[in-house]
Amino acid sequence: MKDMTGACRYCGQTKIVKADGQDDADARVTLDCSCEGGEFERKKKEVGSRLDELIGETAPEYGWEPADPDVYEDIRAMAMHVLTSNIGSVGIRLQDTSLKIHRSKGKISIERSKTIRQGGTIEK
Ligand SMILES: [Zn+2]
Repeated sequence: MKDMTGACRYCGQTKIVKADGQDDADARVTLDCSCEGGEFERKKKEVGSRLDELIGETAPEYGWEPADPDVYEDIRAMAMHVLTSNIGSVGIRLQDTSLKIHRSKGKISIERSKTIRQGGTIEK
């Protein structure tokens, strides 16, 4: 890592940061920028880390089964649609759990839940 001048990918504002190459420098400056684009990148990153905890590589630490990488990518893409388009919510069943990505009042919530049911029916 060395000192480099990175530029925000949205507004072009430059800043000196410690980075591994130009792409990394630009990404770091963008993520730290106070413009709307920077805010959007921070939200995207937050959605990504939440998904990692629920269905990605850190999911087992929280007691969840990770989703297949292909499925993970598709769900991530859907979460980005909730973030950027007018889709209000997306729900997916994963094995015996369900994942809900929901937007309300400018906030995005991402939740995975598991329902345990026991019991049955008896002929009378
Ligand atoms: Zn910017």
